[in-house]
Amino acid sequence: MRQYNILMRVFAPSVRLLVILALLPALAAPAWAWNFPAHWIAAAIAYQRLTPAVRAKVDGFLRQHPDYEKMNFVDAPTDPESRARAAFIHAASWPDEIRDDARLYDDTKADAVPTPLLPGFPGMQRHTNWHYINMPFSQDDSRLTPTPTPNVGTELRRLLDEISPTADPATVAYDLPWFIHLVADSHNPIHAGSRVTKDLPMGDANGSLVFVPGKSLHGYWDDAASPKEINYAGILKYAKDYMAQQPPPVSSTLNPKTWLDESFKLAKSDVYTFGPDNGTKEKPITLPPGYAQNAQKIAKQRLIKSGYLLGTALNLRLR
Ligand SMILES: [Zn+2]
Repeated sequence: MRQYNILMRVFAPSVRLLVILALLPALAAPAWAWNFPAHWIAAAIAYQRLTPAVRAKVDGFLRQHPDYEKMNFVDAPTDPESRARAAFIHAASWPDEIRDDARLYDDTKADAVPTPLLPGFPGMQRHTNWHYINMPFSQDDSRLTPTPTPNVGTELRRLLDEISPTADPATVAYDLPWFIHLVADSHNPIHAGSRVTKDLPMGDANGSLVFVPGKSLHGYWDDAASPKEINYAGILKYAKDYMAQQPPPVSSTLNPKTWLDESFKLAKSDVYTFGPDNGTKEKPITLPPGYAQNAQKIAKQRLIKSGYLLGTALNLRLR
């Protein structure tokens, strides 16, 4: 409720309902990705790096997205340039927002009932398995499980190929929020590694089955790079500060496999450093001294890097 109360103070009455509706998924759902502010900050970094020509193309494609009107912030200025920037930034959280959207259905459920196809949508699936990759590893010699597909690696590869200035505009419009979102997800170490133990022989679902005080290990890493609440002005400020703190990568490889391999390596070296236990909600594991500082440092570095790479990727693909 604390979050609601803050929102009520920040926003005018006329937009309160809108704000509540927009944020309900973020407040009610379990962890599933970088939190919304992290996704928005990474997108703001990327947008800042786009050339004017690519910005114009991206803006044009996004305006054709069926949910373009929802891609905005209540405190964003309304001039055309700001409107376009706000849409790009808000598009970053769209793939998480549709998880609770009744117009779409969860295609990963065995009993899923497809919902009617709406104009502008190539399909009504939520694609909840596109956000991560289960790259298994073990610290107790457990037998490793195979990596399921589709996953964030297969989808990033496809999206990189599909996004081009000459592609069908409706396809690119639909691809862009996914691409913006998944480039960031692929840089989160917890979205790559899945630890297999004797207790969890099928793996820990990217840390979702490991519990630290108050949340899952997955949720812990999703929240490690940014505040949990932010407005549009705050996003731009964070993006500016983060860019000042970390320069663009010297060489950028536009190979999603490389991004995921880096994340996987970090999962093994810096995420699972607390011993063999998985903990429970009631009896969470205790994180070692210095863990929080290190997690925040790494998560922030990865998030900023993902923003830079997203900008580079779009500049190359849409030039
Ligand atoms: Zn995600």
